[in-house]
Amino acid sequence: MLPDTPMAITPTWICPTCGAVYPPAPAPPARCALCEDERQWVPPTGQVWTTMEELARSGYGTEVREVERDLFGIGAQPGIGVGQRGLVVQTPQGNLLWDPPAFIDQAAIDAVAERGGLAAVSASHPHMYGSIVEWGQAFSAEILIAAADRRWLPRPDAAVRIWSGASEVLPGVTLVQCGGHFPGSAVVHWAPGADGKGVLLVGDTIFVTSGADRVSFIWSAPNRLPLPEREVRGVVAALAPYRFDRMYGGWWEPVIRSDAKRILERSAERYVEILRGDFDTAPQPSQWPTWKETSGRT
Ligand SMILES: [Zn+2]
Ligand SMILES: [Zn+2]
Repeated sequence: MLPDTPMAITPTWICPTCGAVYPPAPAPPARCALCEDERQWVPPTGQVWTTMEELARSGYGTEVREVERDLFGIGAQPGIGVGQRGLVVQTPQGNLLWDPPAFIDQAAIDAVAERGGLAAVSASHPHMYGSIVEWGQAFSAEILIAAADRRWLPRPDAAVRIWSGASEVLPGVTLVQCGGHFPGSAVVHWAPGADGKGVLLVGDTIFVTSGADRVSFIWSAPNRLPLPEREVRGVVAALAPYRFDRMYGGWWEPVIRSDAKRILERSAERYVEILRGDFDTAPQPSQWPTWKETSGRT
């Protein structure tokens, strides 16, 4: 009897600059469309590629952390692409994975399986699609892609479902299209989160800033390009119907623990004032609102 012949593994190609995961193929794609877009960047030395298998061999792993009741995060170590960590919202009717990192391994799949698996997987925008298709396949979950951004999904799959506007994925868990950074840029509104006060998972649709007491709006973070006023107002308007107190950005930190809706609205007003030139950019310290003192943070 002949010994088993090892199957040749077709590599899964990853652009390590943006974290896009491309379909398995013998050779890498000719280019990364996401990196050639003006919101991203190609390294000055030229496009580079890696593979899921190479990352695993070089010591990449995943990290799972509880974040709050019924919410846990999945990160890749070290970070890859824009470095986001994913979040899983747990409900009695099933779980939603949001903004998965590019790297996925069996340990992460096992951790999610132990916590009830996945009914659906989605992302705030194309820079955070990561291994969205691989997660969908691992759990036979729906892959929810905003209609306005569907052309950016690097890897088509039969489980992809297109949505727009607002879509309640699970009871109390709603995708809300805000636009801005991408036309389909979205957030998750999780009504039961923060002990019923409501939570937003925002990726970088809204950019939580380092002090966790303000947010910003960015068309291109790496190229330092701002978001036009109409888009900023569009984000605020899309979220006006929703009640929320806490806001998780695309990374482990920072997190706005409380008063997030007021912080969003005030930050948007200040951003627009600066865009318009209506703001004195050399203010006295006393002119800057002391939001930390008034926001009821715990
Ligand atoms: Zn790329
Ligand atoms: Zn982005």
